[in-house]
Amino acid sequence: MNPFQYRDSLLFAEDVNLQELANAYGTPCYVYSKGAIEHNYRAFASALQEWPTCICYAVKANSNLAVLSLLAKLGAGFDVVSIGELERVVRAGGDVSKVVFSGVAKRSDEIRRALVIGIHCFNIESTAELQRLDAITREMDIQANVSLRVNPDVNPTTHPYISTGLKENKFGVDIELALDIYQRIEQCSHLNAVGVDCHIGSQLLELAPFQTCFERIFGLIDQLNAIGIVLQHVDVGGGLGIRYTQDDQVPSHADYAQVLAPFMRDRKLELLIEPGRAIVGEAGLLLTRVEHIKNTSAKNFALVDAAMNDLLRPSLYSAWHEISAVQKSYGATATYDVVGPVCEAGDFLGKDRPLAIQEGSLLAIHAAGAYGFVMASNYNSRARAAEVLVEGDQAWLVRKRETLGQLFANEIIPD
Ligand SMILES: *Cc1c(COP(=O)(O)O)cnc(C)c1O
Repeated sequence: MNPFQYRDSLLFAEDVNLQELANAYGTPCYVYSKGAIEHNYRAFASALQEWPTCICYAVKANSNLAVLSLLAKLGAGFDVVSIGELERVVRAGGDVSKVVFSGVAKRSDEIRRALVIGIHCFNIESTAELQRLDAITREMDIQANVSLRVNPDVNPTTHPYISTGLKENKFGVDIELALDIYQRIEQCSHLNAVGVDCHIGSQLLELAPFQTCFERIFGLIDQLNAIGIVLQHVDVGGGLGIRYTQDDQVPSHADYAQVLAPFMRDRKLELLIEPGRAIVGEAGLLLTRVEHIKNTSAKNFALVDAAMNDLLRPSLYSAWHEISAVQKSYGATATYDVVGPVCEAGDFLGKDRPLAIQEGSLLAIHAAGAYGFVMASNYNSRARAAEVLVEGDQAWLVRKRETLGQLFANEIIPD
């Protein structure tokens, strides 16, 4: 489902005219479609309905409270990686008994707070973390559910920065060590081994790496059963890709479920998945306005008011986002590098894009709903963008544009 469609020659978000939206809220501005987020969540839910399933949305993909609240109302669980994300889930009215806490370096204060809040499960990533959790739960005399994040040593063909399931990665524990570690967990009076988890990478467009990962993780579950350790859930992580380019072929939710089916069949296991990008990615875009056109002997530049501090993915991962003019024009098309005002040669949003634009034109940078605003920074003392959620013909400002006062509110000049 693409909620962003042209009507005549003007781009709409659901039934909202994006030109009017930009005039109302300014640019740069992230725009999310409520309908698309709901659709994407429900697509997972219905594809996986054969099994007891909890969809633990990966909060880091887009952590706006309005997005979390929307998913909470749909019954989602949440995968958090920091206490900040956990407090967001609480604030958004999420069900904390459906929260799993991932992350390689959980601080003691974060663990304590999560224990007090009463989350579903800690996804443990090392024996050092296990020792820390064991000590804290004993001291607080609170029981904790744990799952071991195993590293199945699978190479998903994705960008190396978003590949997480190889031996050389910092994530999880080597799957060969898992049996021993589960036996250690059994010795801990305040820890209950309830699950096993993995997450091999992000933006996966092929099912084969998932297949290999499932073979290994369900193989481990069998080995655990054989020594009398019976888990309640298997958490297969996130990672399902989305369509950034016309050529991206995305496996359907049903195809993904089919790969899982033979593994889940005849097991008394709850299934957890942790999708992030696949729920919010294509449900969002970034609106930006062309400040200047600059034609040089080598290139044409569209200098826009959004930059790498607003959307880091092109600079960080060489990610490709479709860019289109909000007002389709029948004027001359030229090829532009779409670049921001930040003082870095790596500050670009797209290169060599055919566009019919002029100064003042509005551009939409598509599929920016995941890992967009959440990675925004204040580099170059730029205030962070506004965020708007649309539903039908309604638009809600769900995050005000940051003010310059907020930029330096925490800074102190010594006497
Ligand atoms: C980032 C992350 C996810 C979500 O990944 P997507 O590719 O956005 O689905 C899920 N689980 C863990 C542990 C993660 O770190």
